[in-house]
Amino acid sequence: MSNDRIVMAEKGKCCPLCKRSGARVEWKKLYGFDVCKICRWNTAWARCVAFSVEWIAFVAILMMVQQKSIVLSESYLESIDMGAFGGEVVVLLAISAVVLIVGHILFALKDGFEGYSPMKKVLGLRVVDVKTGQGIGLMQSFKRNFGVAFIGAICLLGVVCLMLGPVLLLIAWGMVAGQLRGGFRLGDKWAGTKVVSMKHVDRVPYLGVPICDVCGYDLRATSRDECPECGEAISEQKQKVIEQVSGEMGAEI
Ligand SMILES: [Zn+2]
Ligand SMILES: [Zn+2]
Repeated sequence: MSNDRIVMAEKGKCCPLCKRSGARVEWKKLYGFDVCKICRWNTAWARCVAFSVEWIAFVAILMMVQQKSIVLSESYLESIDMGAFGGEVVVLLAISAVVLIVGHILFALKDGFEGYSPMKKVLGLRVVDVKTGQGIGLMQSFKRNFGVAFIGAICLLGVVCLMLGPVLLLIAWGMVAGQLRGGFRLGDKWAGTKVVSMKHVDRVPYLGVPICDVCGYDLRATSRDECPECGEAISEQKQKVIEQVSGEMGAEI
């Protein structure tokens, strides 16, 4: 492509999400594709808000369950009279630990209902499998959220033990928020997932890589209507995807 043609292409370039164009648009990468800075910012914020609201609600519920289980077990321990044994503290700590661990496992499963967690549903976000574009199940949800749930648990222990929790929490939150600006956070890479905006699910940054159903060949560079590797016919729907992403060749997805 000559320089002139590149300039022409840049001139006609518009944000695939909001269709903004022109020299004043600042371009940022979302899942490896150029989108305008505002769209990327909006997406990252929606994800942060969804997570934060869910996490705060989760902690509130966890504390209630914790409280309840301690009250219940205290009255039970009193009734059996453990005397000077001192085992009560151990039992209560063990119960707290079990509630904490089980609670966080359940939290990590939150995106596993076809890719929707409650707040994601409200904000029009969905977690999909990078390859298939289908909403994820419990296993992938656990994979992508296990890390953040674990960090959350450490922060909670920090609150209890050291009053360090709020500081830890801010650092952790900042790290995760910084990562997901570009699209994938660490948990997404482990689980092979991405978060899409349902409003723009048919647009470029959210589309899956078009691959051949039969041999798995990456079809982004193809201009034919059959797979160059195995000759399988490419569906019309897939050809539309290829059309959209072929202008973005070299973008890592
Ligand atoms: Zn935009
Ligand atoms: Zn093929």
